[in-house]
Amino acid sequence: MTAVPARAEVVVIGGGVMGTSIACHLARAGVPDVVLVERDELASGSTARAAGGVRAQFSDELNIQLGARSLEAFARFEEETGHDIGLQRVGYLFLLSTPGEVEAFEAGVRLQNALGVPSRMTDPAEARRLAPLITTDGLLAAAFSPDDGHCTPEAVVHGYAAAARRHGATIVRHCEVTGIDRRGDDITAVVTRRGRIATSTVVCAAGAWSRAVGAMAAVDLPVQPLRRQIAVTEPIPGLPPDLPMTIDFTSSLYFHTEGPGLLVGMSDPDEEPGFATDTHDRWIPRLYEAMERRAPTLLDVRRTGGWAGLYEITPDHNALIGEAAHVSRFLYATGFSGHGFLQGPAVGEVVRDLYLGQDPFVDIAPLRAERFAADAPRPEVNLV
Ligand SMILES: Cc1cc2nc3c(=O)[nH]c(=O)nc-3n(C[C@H](O)[C@H](O)[C@H](O)COP(=O)(O)OP(=O)(O)OC[C@H]3O[C@@H](n4cnc5c(N)ncnc54)[C@H](O)[C@@H]3O)c2cc1C
Repeated sequence: MTAVPARAEVVVIGGGVMGTSIACHLARAGVPDVVLVERDELASGSTARAAGGVRAQFSDELNIQLGARSLEAFARFEEETGHDIGLQRVGYLFLLSTPGEVEAFEAGVRLQNALGVPSRMTDPAEARRLAPLITTDGLLAAAFSPDDGHCTPEAVVHGYAAAARRHGATIVRHCEVTGIDRRGDDITAVVTRRGRIATSTVVCAAGAWSRAVGAMAAVDLPVQPLRRQIAVTEPIPGLPPDLPMTIDFTSSLYFHTEGPGLLVGMSDPDEEPGFATDTHDRWIPRLYEAMERRAPTLLDVRRTGGWAGLYEITPDHNALIGEAAHVSRFLYATGFSGHGFLQGPAVGEVVRDLYLGQDPFVDIAPLRAERFAADAPRPEVNLV
């Protein structure tokens, strides 16, 4: 078994979109001896299980800015890294069936427009033109942003990892972190199953497993794992190539094209927090009910596969990004509550700046983990 490097300037824990983006941004900025440690394969956690949706349509100003910045980076990704990420900017279409939803999305669109995002409210007839699979029965309005879309999560991880290596970072796979050594409030080393890495700085990008990593440094990261499932369908003849990522906001049913078929997902209110990622069919009756109400033609389409993965949920469904107050140099980027893939590029940039002591392009202080103890939650409501 190869040993890990004896020392590092920074150890990044986790090889999903966050860890690889952060390692890449640090290495590109000239930080020497960046070491990323992943206990399994790269992209083996939540990232490869994501639906790949990328958007700036959020209710929280910070999420709009992080989403929009990331969309710009996804658009430049192939040019900058040489990796094709299958980006399809087909837009996100939210279907709204209650007056409360319409009011909340109107406020969201106003805020998004003020921040330069070209989202707009639209009517049921246009929603059906954009997404012909839907029925407009009971639909009051929709919100659409043409700049949003979807791309391939594993490709993004491998693109960032390759670029990080090119800029001098070391990536160690199959290497679990089991402890973080400290002297007083200072970090002195990261302990792994393949040896000890002397370092003063750790970045926790361990996704749904972040609470355990935080605890190794006595930092409370309130992240809970929650299983979410996805189904993929047989090919569907005549699917519009520019079908938007379509979300029935009331039921949370969503779908987008996946090759010649569709990728379909929905939340399951009966799911209890836990690390299980096996698939089950208990969510299917509810999925079919939602299809019957909003996209009945999908009931005739055969499911050919699917998978399960973990959302990394925080109490206000918003990310934890920052640096621990009482442990010297423990940085974290986790708890993305179902929208972490799309924030990967912008958060990599933000964590690089926190590490370098520079002001990030957006002030992410409201996302620090201590906000719950300070009774200052930061709720995001536009969740899928
Ligand atoms: C079904 C589903 C659909 C989703 N759809 C979307 C979507 O459309 N758009 C979107 O933006 N987001 C989506 N998400 C959420 C998204 O997948 C996550 O927010 C994002 O991938 C989090 O990335 P990450 O790098 O923080 O975590 P991960 O990808 O989980 O990476 C964390 C890594 O840390 C490693 N690790 C953990 N503990 C240790 C340790 N002790 N030592 C070493 N390594 C360790 C793990 O093995 C893992 O590889 C979806 C998630 C699911 C489950």
